[in-house]
Amino acid sequence: MKRKIVVGHLYPDYLNIYADRGNMAVLERRAVWRGIGFDYRTIGLGESVRPGEHDLYYVGGGQDREQALVAPDLAGKGEPLREAAASGAAFLAVCGGYQLLGRFYRDRSGAELPGIGLLPHYTVAGERRMIGDVLLECELAPGEPRLLAGFENHAGRTYLDDGAEPLGRVVAGFGNNGEDGFEGSTLGGAVGTYLHGPLLPRNPWLADWLIARALARRLGETPELESLPDDFESSAARVSADRARARGGRF
Ligand code: GLN
Repeated sequence: MKRKIVVGHLYPDYLNIYADRGNMAVLERRAVWRGIGFDYRTIGLGESVRPGEHDLYYVGGGQDREQALVAPDLAGKGEPLREAAASGAAFLAVCGGYQLLGRFYRDRSGAELPGIGLLPHYTVAGERRMIGDVLLECELAPGEPRLLAGFENHAGRTYLDDGAEPLGRVVAGFGNNGEDGFEGSTLGGAVGTYLHGPLLPRNPWLADWLIARALARRLGETPELESLPDDFESSAARVSADRARARGGRF
């Protein structure tokens, strides 16, 4: 049986700033280069989510205005999405999408946008935006420390619940809130982060981690993914990491 993954892209027309679509292109290429089928489906306003249909969900970033347009609809999809996560589906949520996977996002107008409570956090917009290059130390796979490099631009300050797992420790940049030194949030196969860029072209290891999680949900066992020649990606990651070390995390 040909290996394939079914991907659900939430609100691609509303939450897609900072070339977040580029993440989808990387996931698609790295699957197809390994002979893995990539069945791409969009999920928009008013469209239902059927748990078990998708192996990987993606949601990008957006301005407060776009988040306010999709938040009530996303809240209505909360239960099947939480069920999908509990049954092993992988998630990548970036910035505005990351905020809405938590319990709520109180935006700059003071409006409290409902989240779906899939990830253990909440977000409150602050006065000053946190903008710049970011570098994290991550260990999604135990015993495999990795660097994650990207770009952040957010007013939201995200606070993880006690005992919740961050995506990484901030080496350079603001991260979740510019206070606790952590960035992002992970739970099982779900990853939320403020890192744009887009993120995956310069951090292919995370794309592979998500593809392996998605395949594991469909196949019932974690596959070995053959390695790919990532010379370009590695040099992009180095440039991004150097930039973050040089100037990340300053108001
Ligand atoms: N509107 C949210 C904030 O400002 C998310 C921004 C984004 O997705 N880049 O924090």
